[in-house]
Amino acid sequence: MVLASVPVWQWLVAAVLFLAIVGGGFAFLKGVSGGRPTEKIEPEDVAELDVFFVCSECGTEFQVTRLGEIQVPRHCGEPMNVVRRPRPVPGEQLRKEGE
Ligand SMILES: [Zn+2]
Repeated sequence: MVLASVPVWQWLVAAVLFLAIVGGGFAFLKGVSGGRPTEKIEPEDVAELDVFFVCSECGTEFQVTRLGEIQVPRHCGEPMNVVRRPRPVPGEQLRKEGE
């Protein structure tokens, strides 16, 4: 009879308990830090819609390709305008640069 070594199943039980406790702890912390249950918003691919954020102050434009939480960014201290534009026709040049 050898009683010195701990049976393997006890290690397994200990490991499972440890993982369960750690996992539960993280889930608990995550729930507490979240404050309120929020729906997970999947970022929506809006590149096809040609949505732009346009700064009315300086004219900077950002094209929106993926939209997660709907929040209009600010530029020059002002909220940017949300503009939808028709896609420019490929091959058609607006203006030739230079002379
Ligand atoms: Zn600006």
